[in-house]
Amino acid sequence: MSKLKGRRCAECGGMIRLVAKPGRRGRYKTMMLPIPASLKIPTCASCGSEWIDRATGAAIDVLLERAFRGELRARAKDAIERIAKQVTKQRLERLLGLSQGYLSHLTAGDRDPSPELVSQLALIARAPKQRVRELEDFWGWKSKDAA
Ligand SMILES: [Zn+2]
Repeated sequence: MSKLKGRRCAECGGMIRLVAKPGRRGRYKTMMLPIPASLKIPTCASCGSEWIDRATGAAIDVLLERAFRGELRARAKDAIERIAKQVTKQRLERLLGLSQGYLSHLTAGDRDPSPELVSQLALIARAPKQRVRELEDFWGWKSKDAA
């Protein structure tokens, strides 16, 4: 904190202070996520520019990484539940090349899905029957294989 004393903004020359406030967001991998309102970030009192030092950057990364994983789990669960109303999990696992039971682990929240898998699930969940037919066609399944 004392390192901030007397530091001035390189944009406008204003004083830099530690500011905790809601409404800030940060990108972590595929997502823009809220930065916790309680986190103090060196911020120019005049122009509002944020001057993120190494310690603040590391703190933001830890918080956003945790939020990112939680969000991936929640989004995977939501997409799987929507798809499962129209297509069995077993069929979906076979189409996506996943081991049997993996989707149940995801809905139970005891695995961390990859952003790639969550992307696929999100797209399939928008029109499950149609997307699954397209995947079966893509992989060369005949209709009797799909049962
Ligand atoms: Zn400034």
